[in-house]
Amino acid sequence: MPESGKWDDFILRYPGIIVSGSNAKGTVKLKGKWYRLKVMCPHFPKLQEAQLELLLPQQIKFTRLRYEDLEADWTLYDLMENLPQLQAKYINAASPNAKSIEIASSNIYSEIAALYAPQNYLLELNDACSLLRFSKFTAYEQHHLQVELPTLRITEHSLPDCVPWEEQLQKYDNLTAMVQQFHNYLQDLQPFYENFADIDELCYVVQPTPPVSTKHNWRLFVLRERVFIKLVLSDPFAPISSMSVQIIGPTQAVEELRRTLSDGLSEWDAELDIHKNLLRIFDICYFPMPPGSGWMDVDGEVNISEQKFCNICYSYQLEEGEIPIVSCDNPQCTLIYHAACLKEWFNTLTDGKDFLSVSFGSCPFCKTKLSTSFTELLANYFLMIFE
Ligand SMILES: [Zn+2]
Ligand SMILES: [Zn+2]
Repeated sequence: MPESGKWDDFILRYPGIIVSGSNAKGTVKLKGKWYRLKVMCPHFPKLQEAQLELLLPQQIKFTRLRYEDLEADWTLYDLMENLPQLQAKYINAASPNAKSIEIASSNIYSEIAALYAPQNYLLELNDACSLLRFSKFTAYEQHHLQVELPTLRITEHSLPDCVPWEEQLQKYDNLTAMVQQFHNYLQDLQPFYENFADIDELCYVVQPTPPVSTKHNWRLFVLRERVFIKLVLSDPFAPISSMSVQIIGPTQAVEELRRTLSDGLSEWDAELDIHKNLLRIFDICYFPMPPGSGWMDVDGEVNISEQKFCNICYSYQLEEGEIPIVSCDNPQCTLIYHAACLKEWFNTLTDGKDFLSVSFGSCPFCKTKLSTSFTELLANYFLMIFE
């Protein structure tokens, strides 16, 4: 341990440096560049009798401190801040026979320096050197991983929320293996993301609240006026076998479409993605597109009104992002409600009741009997609330 804590400020400022006695060694980022260095500074912070060995970025040469380069009143702090300029002089002075500085492999910051070499991702370290972020993975641009240093606790990632990734990734006690495993996951998850790609691009996705992210494993999109498809891929590693497709809308329309769907599922074409299979099953050329996308006018039958308000609370989007998707069963009544608002309304009814997970009640306006499964409709919103 360094004596009497006089190195404390230094260690705080350069957390990549380990101090032992009057020697300090490790990795620092100065003016955007990484350096590995070893300093012997017996009169810290004064530079008398100090020695510096500097391992230049991407090279195995090192150099020693030359006093003619220093100002008389400099302390070690001044030296550190001026290293980038000094380094330019040292490149020529470096001895070809010099051996590289050995830094204990247990020092996470030396590992970071190795990972910092050009890779298929972008690596960023915050100023306090307490958070490390990997992003812009080649071929997986939208993904990122952020870990706390030096604990390697995962503080942020872009993988689907339905899997406990933190547990999986925290098994690795070194950063290199962890990032490698993260990259492996990205490769394995490619079919999962590819199946959502066409749906996001070629459907009117209303939930999760756009923009959808790489963390969502479900989509709610428009099949036709007042009828929605909810697609959930529960196991991102096995998207097709874990897939569930639910149709939400007025009971009569839903019953009919459910039959079409269950017949169609038996003829699933493994060569095609989910989007194309669903088009085949419902025998349509394309799904409705968002209002204003210019696509909807192509098909006269598809006419999705823009942002239909909930007829209970008169708003469109609730705080948790929920939009109105529950329709009245009466074909003459075209009103639509938030699942949460309708559930609240059902609760006020004397004849409203729940059986298994299905709730029974009536439309607040035309009084037609209604039944719906709020547990299923609301499930994802609750997940989002507690995220
Ligand atoms: Zn409402
Ligand atoms: Zn009604």
